[in-house]
Amino acid sequence: AAVARIRNFSIIAHIDHGKSTLADRLLQQTGTVSDRDMKAQFLDSMDLERERGITIKLQAARMNYRAQDGQEYVLNLIDTPGHVDFSYEVSRSLAACEGALLVVDASQGVEAQTLANVYLALEHDLEIIPVLNKVDLPGAEPDRVKQEIEEIIGLDCSQAILASAKEGIGINEILESIVLLVPPPPDQTRQPLRALIFDSYYDSYRGVIVYFRVMDGAVRRKDRVRLMASGKEYEIDELGVLSPQQVEVEELHAGEVGYFAASIKSVEDARVGDTITLVKEPAEKPLPGYVEAKPMVFCGLFPTDSEQYEDLREALDKLRLNDAALQYEPETSSAMGFGFRCGFLGLLHMEIVQERLEREYNLDLITTAPSVVYQVTTIKGEVLEIDNPCELPDPQYREKIEEPYVRVDIITPEEFVGPLMELCQTRRGEFANMKYLTPGRTTLIYELPLAEIVTDFFDQMKSRTRGYASMEYQLIGYRPNPLVRLDIMIHGDPVDPLATIVHRDKAYYVGKALTEKLKELIPRHQFKIPVQAAIGSRVVASESIPALRKDVLAKCYGGDISRKKKLLQKQAKGKKRLKSIGTVDVPQEAFMAVLKLQ
Ligand code: GDP
Ligand code: MG
Repeated sequence: AAVARIRNFSIIAHIDHGKSTLADRLLQQTGTVSDRDMKAQFLDSMDLERERGITIKLQAARMNYRAQDGQEYVLNLIDTPGHVDFSYEVSRSLAACEGALLVVDASQGVEAQTLANVYLALEHDLEIIPVLNKVDLPGAEPDRVKQEIEEIIGLDCSQAILASAKEGIGINEILESIVLLVPPPPDQTRQPLRALIFDSYYDSYRGVIVYFRVMDGAVRRKDRVRLMASGKEYEIDELGVLSPQQVEVEELHAGEVGYFAASIKSVEDARVGDTITLVKEPAEKPLPGYVEAKPMVFCGLFPTDSEQYEDLREALDKLRLNDAALQYEPETSSAMGFGFRCGFLGLLHMEIVQERLEREYNLDLITTAPSVVYQVTTIKGEVLEIDNPCELPDPQYREKIEEPYVRVDIITPEEFVGPLMELCQTRRGEFANMKYLTPGRTTLIYELPLAEIVTDFFDQMKSRTRGYASMEYQLIGYRPNPLVRLDIMIHGDPVDPLATIVHRDKAYYVGKALTEKLKELIPRHQFKIPVQAAIGSRVVASESIPALRKDVLAKCYGGDISRKKKLLQKQAKGKKRLKSIGTVDVPQEAFMAVLKLQ
């Protein structure tokens, strides 16, 4: 297609504001996908995504559209993942576009994720087209929401489109606006090839399928290409466009979006953000903005049955082919046996991986509580990165410990400001700012340790605001704090996966709450079980789980079973998840107890 008639755009929105529904509508309206083939929400193709109603992996679709000016245009929609864990991928997809549809639910208004995405889009100088979705709802207030967008984002909304993705209202207007307002890509076809990878996935027959946008030059089938960050070279076996199913073409030039396959073994070799160039005529410099995704949250994964260790390794190897951000290395725990220490971009990423391991690979796993990465300076001046509390050097070897901090932006109805401030204070938050957005709505900005967010912060925020508040966060750096390691002993044995790093001032309280919680969660055995919390050699809290009494054993045992059953029903697919530590059976819940204190 001639560059002048290409438009590359994405859709940015807060979760549930209708991004996927609108994408489907655009595909339908342009005849890209026939009504018959239209599965609910074509772009969210992974089952997990559909179930959770979120977009995890971004994809792209090419549409042909005859505009009112009589010309045929190529519209490339590049979808973005809808979660903070994947904001780097969002930024790479936006870098592949010239414009974005900003979809805001007209019955809700601007939310935290709307703002975070708009800022990313503005950083890339995208033309932003505001779309007020769900105008079919009786509660829709497009005028109020327009005003809100103008005041908060400073975006002119006089031409904002009123739409209903569900009812098919405003769809033509959106397509016309894309043609009229989004600038065509610059004509850079005569430059040496530079193409931006914005997504990739592993296919067991063809190897990695790379999704890319050609920024400069052109690429042909059989070309030898180099990936500038990984340094690897490949010959392109297959080149094509996404309409949205893959259709092969011979050549793609500057401004176009497509995919290639080149027998690449793992997505690690073709990472999001990397630049593709030609081996015989390479570009001088790669495209800006490449960063290697770095795990922020770590946990231990242990098979409940040690016989499954090799299966777990194979499953992780397979997931890793498709997920360059997933890290793992073998971990041996005296309490848990053999497992893996795994690193994730964030909590959602962690949950997705756990769920896939259990669902797709049929593994029974015990997951330990998530930990952030601490930077520890030793008295010798070395800086260690510690992602496992039990590896924290003893106090006499430490100069200081630093922990990651995030800036959290919460958007909330005014009446919940009090409860939210209280929540942030109890999580060691430092107040940064508060702004009144529009009458009745406020944004609250705090700086908090990431460790306090990876617990149940999000759930607490939702429950304290009856679901009305939304939040986003971003890493702002490391800060020193007086942190200590709290160890847990069960039946006299230290249980390393229960060790946790806490602020000195909270250690006593956490120790007490944690031992009480463990007493509740660990079933009674035939013998008494002491549960203790200690800092170094000093015990700060202790409880004991009484033994089952002989005479009521039968009855109690029965009762115990039914209680256990209830617990298990609550767990995914009712699998039995217990780990024997010494002679004590410890259920999965106990390993997460530290997240549930309050
Ligand atoms: P996403 O999270 O932004 O991708 O949002 P979805 O497209 O999954 O939509 C979230 C929910 O809003 C779904 O239940 C949709 O059916 C519904 N929805 C989307 N667009 C509209 C609309 O225009 N009107 C109404 N009433 N509901 C809509
Ligand atoms: Mg969606």
